[in-house]
Amino acid sequence: MLHRALMLGSSVVLGAITTIALAWACAAWVNPARVASTFTTQTTSANTLMGVATQSRFGHTRVNRATLVNFVRDPDTGAVESIGIRADATARSEDFTGWPCRSMVCINEGEITLQLNGAQMQTRLTGTPGRLGLLQLSPWPGGMSCWRALPARPVLVGFAIDTSIYAAIWAGLLIGFGSLRRARRRQAGLCAHCGYDLRGGRPIGEATQICPECGAADAIVATGSRP
Ligand SMILES: [Zn+2]
Repeated sequence: MLHRALMLGSSVVLGAITTIALAWACAAWVNPARVASTFTTQTTSANTLMGVATQSRFGHTRVNRATLVNFVRDPDTGAVESIGIRADATARSEDFTGWPCRSMVCINEGEITLQLNGAQMQTRLTGTPGRLGLLQLSPWPGGMSCWRALPARPVLVGFAIDTSIYAAIWAGLLIGFGSLRRARRRQAGLCAHCGYDLRGGRPIGEATQICPECGAADAIVATGSRP
């Protein structure tokens, strides 16, 4: 039972490590700025208009949001005629990374880019330090909305789901490896549990039932063929 608990624990730890490693890999190598952003507006409780631009690729979603000022649409065509960003604390750029669920997040309060109809608006806030997660990397090549960092904070639900998935995969691998090793040992006339040589000078088919090394009584009957 201790063996089972140890294996379950190892699987969960390995699952969490895999989740973090994948989230960092997506943060470092999947550039969300290479896809066009989806732009929406929301009216906040303070009755201001918030612009939200989302870019999403495999394992990496970037959400830029900022309070809009002088936002004017043509009443007939809906085309945006003028727009501006207010550089205050409501402006932020968030990176959610990980796969299949987004498991980690970091927030940049210093560089916010809204894309709209191919045009880009960017604001760089001063005075507010950018919270760039664990480690800031060199920005993506090519202009705006290209900041890059390794996230440090888990997104609780996504982290739990991803960790469960990878823990299950690791448990399967560990169980498979364990049974393969036991089968090999039995074939060789060794104790399936500890690997002690049970033949003791006897031919393989007549190995003892009780392992003198670890005391295991089950599943140690060697099955090799006699000459
Ligand atoms: Zn043994």
